[in-house]
Amino acid sequence: MKIVGRVVGALVLLAIVAGIIWRWETNGWGSLVWLVVAIATPMIRAPFANRTAENTITEKRETGTEPVLLFLVMAGTTFLPIVHLLTGVFSFADYDLPTWATVVGAVIPIPALWLFWRSHADLGRNWSVTLEVREEHTLVTNGVYRRVRHPMYTSLFALYLASPLLLHNWIAGFSGVVSFAVLHLVRVANEERMMRDLFGAEYEAYVARTGRLLPRLAS
Ligand code: SAH
Repeated sequence: MKIVGRVVGALVLLAIVAGIIWRWETNGWGSLVWLVVAIATPMIRAPFANRTAENTITEKRETGTEPVLLFLVMAGTTFLPIVHLLTGVFSFADYDLPTWATVVGAVIPIPALWLFWRSHADLGRNWSVTLEVREEHTLVTNGVYRRVRHPMYTSLFALYLASPLLLHNWIAGFSGVVSFAVLHLVRVANEERMMRDLFGAEYEAYVARTGRLLPRLAS
């Protein structure tokens, strides 16, 4: 049964990719860049997710709202844009942009995907989709975590901010960044509370010398 599910999943994915490529002239070339980013992001994450699957989780701080918010983020960042690119359902909300703006949207994902990869690599097995503590959880303060506490969220914000420049649509373009901003707002305070409970003074000192999404300006 598992193999049937995988084959069906792969076929659906292939049909979506083919459909978006097929309609690129209607949606503009930015939609092809959006597609590449949408494929690259889970591919970068997959090997790290596989590794953390073996973790023993000692504490979960997932609140009731978290699954709802994660679903909203999936809808906003992925489902809505795909439905729009395949059907043009939101074309009433299209806008025009000069070519240079689309080029900016195509360039932003390059450093953003690098940061997304590096933050997974630096977190190693401490990474998780929701708020969790694993056995032998360590506080990572090196690599891209040296000056910023949430570089993975920075990279995702940058990726989702590129979408309006690539998709030229008020709904499909902005649904990602808006839904992620809501998740971020709810989650970051919980995440930092969890890290403070776990690492105490070590985390306090880390907070004092770092910025949340961007490096703290030299003081
Ligand atoms: N907020 C971080 C990590 C996102 S993954 C970022 O944006 O880069 C979420 C998980 O990472 C949380 O469940 C927490 O257990 C873990 N985590 C977050 N910051 C960490 C750190 N500095 N060291 C170790 N684990 C961390």
